[in-house]
Amino acid sequence: MATLPVYRWRLAPDGLATRRQLRAAGLRPGGQDVAAQLERPRRRRGPLIAYLYRIDRARPVRPMTPAKTAALDRANAARRTCPACRNDVGYVIPVSLGMCVPCAYPAADSTSDLPGRGCHVR
Ligand SMILES: [Zn+2]
Repeated sequence: MATLPVYRWRLAPDGLATRRQLRAAGLRPGGQDVAAQLERPRRRRGPLIAYLYRIDRARPVRPMTPAKTAALDRANAARRTCPACRNDVGYVIPVSLGMCVPCAYPAADSTSDLPGRGCHVR
């Protein structure tokens, strides 16, 4: 492996970024080789050397695939589904209740009857 240029922290030239910096910009190294190394300050724990990548060779983080989106939708639907009445109540079930509000407070539900949203509609 050829010797890589090593830059002092904050003295790296423009056009290079660490993996973390790329990630913050929505980019990833994209299979390119490490372009340089960065000497990090010693006051914090962690590696003293960070790898630098060329920003112009970085690629955008992989966009969401339809399958991934569908899986996320299903996961969100599960979080909106009340385990007591099995309805998708249209909001994420509060962890503190463990069920939808009408199920947790049946008395309150009878006084404020919202059409089309109740747990008792099947
Ligand atoms: Zn419910």
